[in-house]
Amino acid sequence: MSQSIAASTPSSPAARSREPLRTWGRTVTWQPDRRATPRDEAELAALVADAAAAGQHVRAIGAGHSFTPAAVTDGLHLGLDHLSGIEAVLPQADGTALVTVRAGTRLYQLNRLLASLGLAMRNLGDIDRQSIAGAISTGTHGTGATLGGLATQVRGVRVVDAEGTVRTATAAAAPGSPERELFEVARLGLGTVGILSAVTLEVVPAFWLRAQEEPWPLDRVLDGLDEYVDGNDHAELYWFPGTRRALTLRNNRATPDEVASWTAARTGALGALRGAGTRARSLLDDEVLSNGAFEVVNRLAFAAPGLVPRLNAVSARALGARSYVAPSHEVFVHRRRVRFAEMEYALPRAELRDVLAELDGWLRRSSEPVPFPVEVRFAAADDVWLSTARGRETAYVAVHQYAPMPHRRYFDAAEQIFTAVGGRPHWGKLHRRTAADLALHYPLDDVARVRAAVDPRGTFRNDYTDTVLGPTAR
Ligand SMILES: Cc1cc2nc3c(=O)[nH]c(=O)nc-3n(C[C@H](O)[C@H](O)[C@H](O)COP(=O)(O)OP(=O)(O)OC[C@H]3O[C@@H](n4cnc5c(N)ncnc54)[C@H](O)[C@@H]3O)c2cc1C
Repeated sequence: MSQSIAASTPSSPAARSREPLRTWGRTVTWQPDRRATPRDEAELAALVADAAAAGQHVRAIGAGHSFTPAAVTDGLHLGLDHLSGIEAVLPQADGTALVTVRAGTRLYQLNRLLASLGLAMRNLGDIDRQSIAGAISTGTHGTGATLGGLATQVRGVRVVDAEGTVRTATAAAAPGSPERELFEVARLGLGTVGILSAVTLEVVPAFWLRAQEEPWPLDRVLDGLDEYVDGNDHAELYWFPGTRRALTLRNNRATPDEVASWTAARTGALGALRGAGTRARSLLDDEVLSNGAFEVVNRLAFAAPGLVPRLNAVSARALGARSYVAPSHEVFVHRRRVRFAEMEYALPRAELRDVLAELDGWLRRSSEPVPFPVEVRFAAADDVWLSTARGRETAYVAVHQYAPMPHRRYFDAAEQIFTAVGGRPHWGKLHRRTAADLALHYPLDDVARVRAAVDPRGTFRNDYTDTVLGPTAR
């Protein structure tokens, strides 16, 4: 089946005024020389070719939700909001489907369009504001011991090179072939081999999840970590610094009976009366991360940092338990209204307990005021060249700080702890690592070879890609 399903057009940072661009977390501000929002792939290709011929750098921006300067350019900035929606759907014999999506499609649009086709992403991160191209390009991931990040769900790409040629690369190309290698760097490569115009994803039949959110003693999770992680489809936890308590999140495939009764609750008159017809409400949304009360907690912490230990103790104690059943994307996605800075590292899973102990020790010794919980997620080993979970079972540990509060000392200390156990930084979240030491973790020579072949003049480089991947041409 081939079809085109449009999504309504959001307004990307690139599409708005001439004001400088800035990231969602307010971590980077920049002013490109020129901005454009092409209406289709042909216009995109012409824009790239003209800019490259004039010696300009070219970068695309998605939703600006990276904390690093990944999307920054001094040259032509492209917003792909008009390249949005589903182009084609190819059902597979095993019930999955290959869905080709235009690169600027936001995840919330994609989720709705897939749901209308009875399909869903196998796994997602915890928000849905990103564009699909931006999300895969930095290795965006969710949680699940048997699951990989979004880039592992990519089966093909269309990418515009510096000549304006639209190249196609798929996972089915022969291993070691130029096409297969281009696919590797295009599906997760910080936009360094060209501008993605479309992405083909392997998606699954739509499914519902049973979400269980419960406060637990942190040690209960850590003592039975393997059972916690491997015994659930999607396990996650939020640990409150200065306490030994965590909010646990366990999401598992719902049974047909559960789906039937929650469907009735959502659609029935009773459900509408109770407000269940909108979105099943998550404890994490309502009481921890996203609501007005959390903003108030953070403002208090900003005004009186000495209150933070008591605030965290109250937050950790205030939580009750909640369980609900809803379509997968509604369970995965949370609302993040309180603005923050974030660093996230991928660690060998076996190191998690020691790393949290080290972090706890540093926080207690330093009395650093941190009103945000530490987030822990999990992923299977994968084989994507630049994936943070490449070749090993992974625990992701993310540290956050309220945007107006200083984060440097906390993040530097956390980074030292993470780096000591072979941690790999999320490409889209704050860190201070460089290609010199990241080369221990990734085949950066192979990445450089592919980049040099498709982008010999360095049209798609920027300072950040030079720092973390090494330079191509200038
Ligand atoms: C509130 C919040 C929650 C988050 N939650 C998660 C999470 O749960 N899991 C997780 O892993 N990460 C998470 N992140 C990080 C986020 O998913 C990544 O930083 C992601 O890259 C942002 O997507 P974007 O569309 O905003 O891309 P941008 O930040 O705009 O761009 C990211 C990179 O992609 C490149 N790019 C964008 N479009 C194209 C294109 N068409 N062709 C080529 N290159 C392109 C850019 O040049 C840049 O290098 C979160 C971030 C925030 C702010």
